[in-house]
Amino acid sequence: MSATGPRYSAWSLLRARFAGSGFWKPLWSGATLKDAYDVVIVGAGGHGLATAYHLARDHGIKRIAVLEKRLVGYGNVGRNTTIVRSNYLLPENHYFYEDSLRRWEQLSKELNYNVMYSPRGVLDLALSDGEMIGLARRGNAMRLAGIDAELLDRPGVLKFAPELVASRRRFDIVGGLLQPRGGTVRHDAVAWGYARAATALGVDIIEDCEVTGLRTAAGLATGVETSRGYVAADRIVFAVAGHTGAVGDMLGIRLPVETHLLQAMVTEPIKPLVNSVLIYVPPHAEVYITQSDRGGLVMGGFLDGYPSYTREGQWYRLEDVVETAVALLPQIAGLKILRHWAGTNDMTMDGSFIIDRLRYDNVFLNGGWCYGGFKAIPASGAACARFVATGTAPDLIRAHGLGRFASGHLLDERGGGPFPVRQ
Ligand SMILES: Cc1cc2nc3c(=O)[nH]c(=O)nc-3n(C[C@H](O)[C@H](O)[C@H](O)COP(=O)(O)OP(=O)(O)OC[C@H]3O[C@@H](n4cnc5c(N)ncnc54)[C@H](O)[C@@H]3O)c2cc1C
Repeated sequence: MSATGPRYSAWSLLRARFAGSGFWKPLWSGATLKDAYDVVIVGAGGHGLATAYHLARDHGIKRIAVLEKRLVGYGNVGRNTTIVRSNYLLPENHYFYEDSLRRWEQLSKELNYNVMYSPRGVLDLALSDGEMIGLARRGNAMRLAGIDAELLDRPGVLKFAPELVASRRRFDIVGGLLQPRGGTVRHDAVAWGYARAATALGVDIIEDCEVTGLRTAAGLATGVETSRGYVAADRIVFAVAGHTGAVGDMLGIRLPVETHLLQAMVTEPIKPLVNSVLIYVPPHAEVYITQSDRGGLVMGGFLDGYPSYTREGQWYRLEDVVETAVALLPQIAGLKILRHWAGTNDMTMDGSFIIDRLRYDNVFLNGGWCYGGFKAIPASGAACARFVATGTAPDLIRAHGLGRFASGHLLDERGGGPFPVRQ
């Protein structure tokens, strides 16, 4: 039995039946904060936890702490709409996200924790010929890279997603781009699974511990100031997502990042209707729809449109999402929204992420995930850990350094210019 209890299996369920209370152990609580670590990771979201797990598992680093100002899973890792895919246009993005998708496929087995990867297919929809040309371009780039992509005409779309056969739609569907291996993964299971696996490898996860400053000496960082006192560290990784800009302030540098709100919502439960992930991005809106295991339609759209840390979404964006969703699926017009919520997203000015050193040789930034960083967690954890352990950025993330903003080699997937957009 490890620090986090037994391996999960049918056998362990049977033993638990007869063992009585105390058989199941807490998955990660109980670590005591030490004075010094080899690596301190700031932020117990998906990226921080996956980085800690890979540092311990792949690189044998022993003394690792993940410091979290709130709770494991409180941030965006537990707030997102759970969509995973690798249908990107640019090679710097699609190879990275494909690495992640391959890792999602194995993750439940690897972590011995069911993250509920559901390859139900991600279908991007086109309602005009112009949109179809854009999807064909992206699909061709994916296929050249060996990534699954199928361009569907209208009958193909309606066969794959019969819920889109509607008589009352204002604009009709022209076609779509399907990535069959894309789908969803249960978000909080990802946080819990990585936290459990990292704890079993000896990582200290410390909740309610806010990092408030950095101490330096002779051009290197020596540790972090926290709400629980000073902690020395040989290397420090910031993986704080929506608070990346605040890290820049802490270190005295202005990062090309703005914090924006993104909302999501879920309707009352209905019988199975949407069996895949439907995405539609018309010129001034956006909607993505999935159906949860409980039957609710989970929907999201575009950012609220201005920087904020409030986590209180604006009504007009909710209306936009609902309007676009109903334009796509008129039959859902009468449904009630049960809940809606928001998260703070670290939006970069080219829409792609940043993994790089930050001002000091032994300080690293894992951030700029915009509102698409959930799907990146497995690849980011492995790549970031390798960078931190070896001092060299792996090829998969080499183009994602901060230097691109100075040199002009932006990774602007949408070709949208310097505005906070997701890719
Ligand atoms: C509504 C919504 C829908 C989304 N949908 C998708 C989707 O379908 N697919 C997808 O790929 N992505 C999606 N995303 C984006 C994705 O959730 C994020 O990009 C990703 O989760 C961010 O990385 P993380 O998990 O490490 O962040 P987080 O979970 O936010 O982790 C960062 C942690 O750092 C902690 N922290 C911050 N400052 C400090 C400090 N000073 N000291 C200690 N701890 C600190 C925070 O409390 C937080 O727990 C969505 C986001 C939102 C908000």
